[in-house]
Amino acid sequence: MSNHSAASGGLSLNAGKREEELDAASLRAKYKAERDRRIRPDGAGQYLPTTGTFGYYATDPYTERTEREPLTDSVEVLVIGGGFGGLVTGARLRQAGIEDIRMMDEAGDFGGTWYWNRYPGIRCDIESYVYLPLLEEVGTMPGERYAPGEEIRQHAVAIARTFDLYRDAVFHTRVTSLVWDEDAFEWVVETDRGDRMRARQVITSSGTLTQPKLPGIPGIETFKGHTFHTSRWDYGYTGGDQFGNLSKLGDKGLR
Ligand SMILES: Cc1cc2nc3c(=O)[nH]c(=O)nc-3n(C[C@H](O)[C@H](O)[C@H](O)COP(=O)(O)OP(=O)(O)OC[C@H]3O[C@@H](n4cnc5c(N)ncnc54)[C@H](O)[C@@H]3O)c2cc1C
Repeated sequence: MSNHSAASGGLSLNAGKREEELDAASLRAKYKAERDRRIRPDGAGQYLPTTGTFGYYATDPYTERTEREPLTDSVEVLVIGGGFGGLVTGARLRQAGIEDIRMMDEAGDFGGTWYWNRYPGIRCDIESYVYLPLLEEVGTMPGERYAPGEEIRQHAVAIARTFDLYRDAVFHTRVTSLVWDEDAFEWVVETDRGDRMRARQVITSSGTLTQPKLPGIPGIETFKGHTFHTSRWDYGYTGGDQFGNLSKLGDKGLR
């Protein structure tokens, strides 16, 4: 046995002893009980959608919506979603030589999650060097190990600029229907802006956490105070920015 193995043997003994002391079955049961305590039988039904009376919760507070004529044209590729999924798709398509790409998002700009979520202190929770896509291609390096949300959003914008994805981007537009036209061999795409356009290829990258949900607090519909969703942070009300200094909250204690 080499010195190295002898040293490792000592470590394994300790590990083995710890395993004996550890009752895996009761630990699993404990975690299961805690999990079950937190799972509600109504599941996602416990939340209220940000529609109807609560529609204002979903309004984009960051970019003004501009009116435009409905689209009736045809493109080679439509990418639905301007988050990192859609951006990487758009970038790779450009690298493959595809020119006719339309990016579409109900947000007012690129960024997806990082466009919508700008609450104080937001950062990514895994290392930025791993999380942020296309760093070499954009020619940038994150300034911090866990980058702040605004830096991440700016990186999304930089990807779009680097790969010329603003060229035919359509924002503040929600795709509501995709129907395959077998005769024309194209998708017919309808949106909440009255568009009825066509696309040879459609790539959906619409995320999983994009719809704001409200807690089903009894009385929420009659509450008269000022409220907003964290994914639509109202800095006009709180003051400050993503880095803090929420100065306007000073005189808004519980009454
Ligand atoms: C608050 C928050 C913090 C997070 N932090 C981390 C983190 O630290 N680390 C990590 O790994 N992951 C994190 N995530 C997960 C994050 O969502 C993914 O990392 C990633 O950004 C998802 O990219 P995406 O392009 O798939 O989707 P998204 O970024 O969600 O982009 C999807 C886009 O599609 C648009 N869209 C949806 N439906 C339609 C439609 N019908 N028509 C037009 N547009 C539409 C949306 O407006 C959105 O802009 C976080 C998520 C949230 C909500």
